[in-house]
Amino acid sequence: MALTNLLDLDPAQLVAYCSELGEKPFRAKQLQRWIHQFGASDFTAMTDLAKSLRDKLATRAVVQSPAVISDHTSTDGTRKWLLDVGQGNAVEAVFIPEENRGTLCISTQAGCAVNCRFCSTGKQGFNRNLTVGEIIGQLWMAEFELRKTKGIEPGPKGERQITNVVMMGMGEPLLNYEPTVTALKLMLDDNAYGLSRRRVTLSTSGVVPNIDKLGQDCPVALAVSLHASNDALRDSLVPLNKKYPLKELMAACVRYLEFAPRDFVTFEYCMLDGVNDTEQHARELVALVRHGAVLVPCKFNLIPFNPFPESGLTRSNNPQIKLFAQVLMDAGIVTTIRKTRGDDIDAACGQLAGEVQDRTKVQERMQKMAEYQQKFGKDFGRLVEVTS
Ligand code: SAH
Ligand code: SF4
Repeated sequence: MALTNLLDLDPAQLVAYCSELGEKPFRAKQLQRWIHQFGASDFTAMTDLAKSLRDKLATRAVVQSPAVISDHTSTDGTRKWLLDVGQGNAVEAVFIPEENRGTLCISTQAGCAVNCRFCSTGKQGFNRNLTVGEIIGQLWMAEFELRKTKGIEPGPKGERQITNVVMMGMGEPLLNYEPTVTALKLMLDDNAYGLSRRRVTLSTSGVVPNIDKLGQDCPVALAVSLHASNDALRDSLVPLNKKYPLKELMAACVRYLEFAPRDFVTFEYCMLDGVNDTEQHARELVALVRHGAVLVPCKFNLIPFNPFPESGLTRSNNPQIKLFAQVLMDAGIVTTIRKTRGDDIDAACGQLAGEVQDRTKVQERMQKMAEYQQKFGKDFGRLVEVTS
């Protein structure tokens, strides 16, 4: 009999599993806490479970996350794990510590079928979807490894290391829908990680029908990889755009906001020299989100392109990025430039970094921006240096 990996089970499935073993639902809750709050994988150590249950589990189940191939910490504290997901495939999980939070960036697929022009994951092609256990296993492994390193006890009393999760690693989460949503539900569950929906962000290249589905099933914070201000350009950068063009994508974003834990969508925009980074592009973007068929409450996150040789693309220079950001900000759109972190351990894929400004909801008009500048100081809404 194959062993059941308990990391694959959502709360309801764990209850069902325990009931198959003749156990009451509260046992499933206890078990879930042992696994996800104490990081336990050894059933014999789960002392408040009946010995008979522990014995049954020991012969039928495991708690197993993907094996760690490498584990590197950057000089800035960023820690990257390379994880073996079998058949020569590996995915990454990256921890980015900041002053008041710790963000874990996780992967949802080995490779990616969307094949965006500027993305090295896309260039690998699609290998396979990750299972629930492989997705939540990244959080499970990282939280308890980080605690071990710092000598922090497991369990709810110990200081939580990962306060935020972003699905911005390898893969397109909305093309691995069910396992992604199950993993999200575990992140939010009070008997597991208990993260608030605002602190969990899913990033998508724009799989419109599944944006709607996510709004119904598990509305967490949403980031959308925009990268272009018109359909012709986006078709060439994000091939999925041919299927779900900008107008449909914008409408889906607005629909999603009805259910979202935040009242804006974050648009990610990878800054590519001479491709999508002119002032004209910025003005076109403003028109798209402010004056298009629908008005989209949003903020922008400009990501300096992280170059890789086969792409044939280069990063926009810093003054150009600032100019671009200024056009958006002058239109009252909160705009941040993503810092590159973990450069020295190659964890700076552009997708893997903290936001420099995340203070409040997006403001639509200049007057609002001025009010905030009065309230929070003159630097509110201004750009922070690109640190790469
Ligand atoms: N597939 C999802 C989530 C993973 S990619 C998505 O596309 O949204 C996370 C973010 O990193 C996306 O915004 C993506 O466009 C960006 N990205 C990918 N490759 C990059 C690179 N080489 N430089 C900068 N950003 C990149
Ligand atoms: Fe896939 Fe996202 Fe990379 Fe595009 S940017 S290829 S959707 S991982």
